[in-house]
Amino acid sequence: MKEKIAGTGLKVTHQRMVIYDAVLQMNFHPTVEQIYEDIQGENPSISLGTVYKTLETFVEYGLIDRVFTEEGVRRYDPNLEHHGHIYCTNTREIVDYYSEELNEIITGFFKKRKVNNLKIKNITLQINGDKIDPDKDITIK
Ligand SMILES: [Zn+2]
Repeated sequence: MKEKIAGTGLKVTHQRMVIYDAVLQMNFHPTVEQIYEDIQGENPSISLGTVYKTLETFVEYGLIDRVFTEEGVRRYDPNLEHHGHIYCTNTREIVDYYSEELNEIITGFFKKRKVNNLKIKNITLQINGDKIDPDKDITIK
């Protein structure tokens, strides 16, 4: 963990370690508030504003990713492997979706049809929807 933070060129501080560890432990794409609540008990001196600023710094330095829900809520994702998201507007859950086939289709599509005057950095896919049966998981074949 220390090495990962240091590897980005950021200074390793206790605060950064605590916040990064919390994001890694919470594998459900947590919000700033959820991370803040999680670390509050043992780290009451770290403010919500600090958690927010630290997470945004981590995104800027490529340590974690940021995901926006349909409602515009920021969520954080420590999984840097290229993947898509399925978002349920009822339960607010985010499900990771991996498909090499889909990546190839999307990349191939934009290779054929050039996007003028834009250097594409990345393409992410997010599917928004409402869960039909709340007792069942969202799955994709
Ligand atoms: Zn994810």
